[in-house]
Amino acid sequence: MKRVCIAGAGLAGLYLAVALARRGIAVQLHERREASELGLTEDAKRRSIALALSHRGLHALGSLGLEARASEIGRRMLGRVIHQASGELAFSAYDPTGQGRILAVQRAELYELLADAARREPLVTLRFGQGLRDWAHGEDGQVQVRFDNLAQPATFDALLGADGADSRTRATLERQRGVAFQRVDFEQAYKEVRLRVAPRPAGQDGLHIWPRDEVMLIGLPGRQAGELDGTLFLPRAAEAAWFGLDAAALQQRFATLFPDLQLPAGEAQALRSRPLGRISTIEGGPWCDGPVLLVGDAAHAVTPFLGQGMNCALEDCELLLDCLDQASGFAPAFQAFYQQRREDAQALGQMSTRNLQEMMVETRTPAYARQKQLEAWLATRFPGVFLPSYSAITFDRMPYAKVLRMKTLQEALLARLQTASGEPPAAAQAEREVAAYQAAFSSLMAEPAC
Ligand SMILES: Cc1cc2nc3c(=O)[nH]c(=O)nc-3n(C[C@H](O)[C@H](O)[C@H](O)COP(=O)(O)OP(=O)(O)OC[C@H]3O[C@@H](n4cnc5c(N)ncnc54)[C@H](O)[C@@H]3O)c2cc1C
Repeated sequence: MKRVCIAGAGLAGLYLAVALARRGIAVQLHERREASELGLTEDAKRRSIALALSHRGLHALGSLGLEARASEIGRRMLGRVIHQASGELAFSAYDPTGQGRILAVQRAELYELLADAARREPLVTLRFGQGLRDWAHGEDGQVQVRFDNLAQPATFDALLGADGADSRTRATLERQRGVAFQRVDFEQAYKEVRLRVAPRPAGQDGLHIWPRDEVMLIGLPGRQAGELDGTLFLPRAAEAAWFGLDAAALQQRFATLFPDLQLPAGEAQALRSRPLGRISTIEGGPWCDGPVLLVGDAAHAVTPFLGQGMNCALEDCELLLDCLDQASGFAPAFQAFYQQRREDAQALGQMSTRNLQEMMVETRTPAYARQKQLEAWLATRFPGVFLPSYSAITFDRMPYAKVLRMKTLQEALLARLQTASGEPPAAAQAEREVAAYQAAFSSLMAEPAC
């Protein structure tokens, strides 16, 4: 029986453990943190507590038979609710067809869902508090792995590094192959915050955004109507100016900047002491070396501004399993996966960082509302021809690299069709421009994925 070591019992690591065990592979899953640290409250403390789970992630969970359960724990988000500084409130639907699903889920609940599935697999051994220290190539194409708190290395047929943005699997790969990944520690940092807002009318709830000059506050629908799981994004340099305030002054700052929300009792005080989360991106490659492969954030961490890091990590797992099913061994499957996925990861990285500008700056302008209207009009008027890039990312599994190229074509089309009033363009002009766009779009879709 083949034996695989997975470093990191995050979402990708747990997913792969379940899927490999179901293929008759013995999996040893090593997690640096103790099991107690991964409980609901501790995990929530470490990271943003709510995540947007969309089509790619749901599809991957579906392959494990977990989609229905994930849907039960999630709350559907139908669009963006933008709270302007003027007090004006605007709702913009995510998917003009109303079909696409994007769910707000608690990270810890999703974690529990996958951890529970892993515990049920007899071929999965979970080792908490035993992180990967480093690894080396062994004999006969195997890999030797050393762990914290264990004197002896262990030998496996393959090693999957699902150990997140600070991956030690990646650090060893960099040393072994003499390559360097680029890590960018982003200027924006974040804190999770619990919020209350007036409940939204039916069919008009979703991701709340308060774009302001230096900061951006977002909130995903919580368990009760009017409750939001929020994240405050702010420059790292502004930490002292915000959280050096006492609780009353911090509460007052929220009331001034975001007058249409409330902080629950005690939240301002709790917020001061919560750790400031870092945002780092990872780019580079190769992600594999013989029987060793990086997946998820370990290979390609992106900024959270498109809500795709986890969705992409779960899609990675699904694609990797396809490669394993088709290839003759771990090393060729890992190589095939890297070749297929690297451009997609780069494209997602670019689009995610670019979306910060859209969320913080563009959502504040009338031009943004006009552009969204025009996109919705085109999607309804030319179904199957015009798919807004956000829909292609969130409600479809189009490879991210193709989405990026489609987005460039669409930006040119939108610029040609934009009218000053925001009214739809004349039908004849729209037909002509869309026909030209369709020709370019069709040849893009006909190209092989990589
Ligand atoms: C503020 C914020 C908001 C986000 N919102 C969204 C969203 O809405 N939608 C979305 O799709 N994505 C979102 N993301 C991104 C998402 O959180 C990540 O992309 C996702 O968690 C990646 O999963 P992973 O399994 O690859 O890595 P991780 O979730 O980071 O898991 C890695 C695991 O490895 C463990 N580990 C680390 N080092 C070692 C070691 N040496 N040995 C063993 N174990 C180790 C860690 O303890 C951890 O358990 C967000 C990220 C942030 C920061």
